[in-house]
Amino acid sequence: MIARYGVHCGITSSKELLRDLFHQTDITAVVDFPGHLKTFCACVGNACSLSIEEWIQHHTLYPAFLAFAPADRQKQILKSAYGRNAGNIHTRLGVCASFIKPPEYLRVCKQCQLEQRDRFGEVYWQRSLQMPGVIFCPHHELPLHVSNTRYHPIGKFDFEAAEHTQIVAPLNCAATRENQKLFILLAQNMHLLMHASCDNKMSFKKLSQFYSELAQRHDLRKGTRVDHIGVANKFHAYWKEPCDQILPNLFKFKPEWLKSLFRKHRKSFHPLCHLLVWQAFNMPDSLSTLHSIKSLPAPKKTQIVQTYLPPSHQVKKHRKEWASICKKNPTKGIKWLRHEGNAAGIYAWLYRNDREWLQSNSPERIKATFFCNRVNWEQRDKSLLKNLLILEARAHVESVNFRKSKAWYIKNSSTPSILEKHRDKLPLCKKFIDSHAESVEEFQRRRIESAICNLRAENEELQTWKIIRRAGIRKEFLSETLLKFIDKSQGILGNGSSSPNLPPHS
Ligand SMILES: [Zn+2]
Repeated sequence: MIARYGVHCGITSSKELLRDLFHQTDITAVVDFPGHLKTFCACVGNACSLSIEEWIQHHTLYPAFLAFAPADRQKQILKSAYGRNAGNIHTRLGVCASFIKPPEYLRVCKQCQLEQRDRFGEVYWQRSLQMPGVIFCPHHELPLHVSNTRYHPIGKFDFEAAEHTQIVAPLNCAATRENQKLFILLAQNMHLLMHASCDNKMSFKKLSQFYSELAQRHDLRKGTRVDHIGVANKFHAYWKEPCDQILPNLFKFKPEWLKSLFRKHRKSFHPLCHLLVWQAFNMPDSLSTLHSIKSLPAPKKTQIVQTYLPPSHQVKKHRKEWASICKKNPTKGIKWLRHEGNAAGIYAWLYRNDREWLQSNSPERIKATFFCNRVNWEQRDKSLLKNLLILEARAHVESVNFRKSKAWYIKNSSTPSILEKHRDKLPLCKKFIDSHAESVEEFQRRRIESAICNLRAENEELQTWKIIRRAGIRKEFLSETLLKFIDKSQGILGNGSSSPNLPPHS
C-alpha cells in the first residue's frame, strides 16, 4: 500500500514517502507486521477511512499469528503495532525464534494479477500468499510464482510495489504436483485464518486441552499420556513423502515440534504447525476449528496442597550442595549442571521439595545470544570473502554500466542480509568492501579508461569531447582531476591535443 501510494503520487524518494505517511523518515519497510499505525492512520486519514483495527485485520499478517496468542500477549503486540515501539513485535510473536521461516521472495498468482489489473488497473501484493507453506493460490488453485522482491528488503526503506516486480519462476515441482490437493486445501485454510478476529479468547491452557482431546478422539492417548509415535504416524501418512522437499524443516530437520504441540503449551507455535496437524487429523476448516478451541470452557484452577514437609537438615544439605555446584560452574545452565555436572539427583530432590528456592537460586536461562554465539563468524567471514572475490572477478569482466558501490557488493553477494546486518562480525568482508567499493569519481575514471580503450580499438582520434561522450558522463560532472587524467592519457598515447577541446558543434 505504501509503495503503491508512492507510485500514485510520483514519489521516488523513500524519505519523502515516509514523511508523507508517517511524519518521520526512519520507518523500516516490513511486509508482515508493521508498526507506527496510529501515526499512519492519522496521516492517511483524509484519503482513507480505514481504522487501525481494519488496517491490522485486512492488510497485515497479524490475524493469523494473533489467533494463537494468549490475551495478554495479544494486547502487548497490538500496543507495539499502534505505537512507535515496533521493533519488538517479531520477537514477541515468536517469528524470530521459529524454525519456520518466511519465504525469501514475495509470491504472486498470475491469474489473480490479471483480475487485479482488470479491476483496478494495477496489481497488488496479496498477504495470504506470503505465508510459509502456501504454494498454491487459494482462489484459482494454481501454483504461485516467485517474484524478485524480497520478503525482507535489503535496504531499510525499500518499499516495492507489486507493479514494479519481476516474476522469476513458478513454484511448481514434482512434490507440489503429487500433493496438489493437500496444498490447495492448506492454502485455503491459511487464507481463512487471515480472517480470524482478535478477541482475547485464546489461552495456552485451551490449546493444550484441545490437542490432548484431539489425540484422545483418534485413539492416540493411553491414560494421560499421548501416543506420540501414533501421532507422528498419522501426520506422516497424510503429509506424504514429497512434502519434505517443500518444507524440509518441518518434516526432516525438526520433527520434535509435533511432540511439543501435543504436550503442555508454554509458547506459541507457528500457525502453519497448527494447520498442518488440523488437516492431517481431519478437522473442519481453520476458522471453525479455531472457534471450537476458543469456546472450550476455561479450565478450573487446581490448588496444589503440599502434604509432605522434608526435615530441615535435608533441605539445608541439598541447598548447600546445589549452591556449591552453581558456584563452581558459573557459566553453565541448569541443563548442563544436571547432566554434565552430575547434579541430576540434587536438582530433582529440590524440585520436588523446595521448588521456590531452587528457582531463585539457579542460573538464569541462557537466552538467544547463546544461539548467535554458535555461528562460527570467522569461518563465515572467510567463505563470504571467497564469494566476494568471485563477484569482483566476474564484475571486472562484465560491465562499466554500474558503479561497484558498497551497496552493490552487498546486494550482489550470496547473503546480502547477513552482510548488511552483521558487517562488524565479518572483518575480512568489511575490509574487502571498504577497499574495493568505488567512489563516484573512481567509477567515472573506470568509464573513461574503457572509453579510451574502445576508441583506440576503433582507431578513432582521442579528443576530449569524444572520450567524455563515449564514457557517457556530462562534462559539468567531471572533476579537475579527471579532466587532467584525460589530458594525460591523450599525452601518453600521443593522440589529440593536450588541452580539453570542445565538441565541434559547441
Ligand atoms: Zn489466484
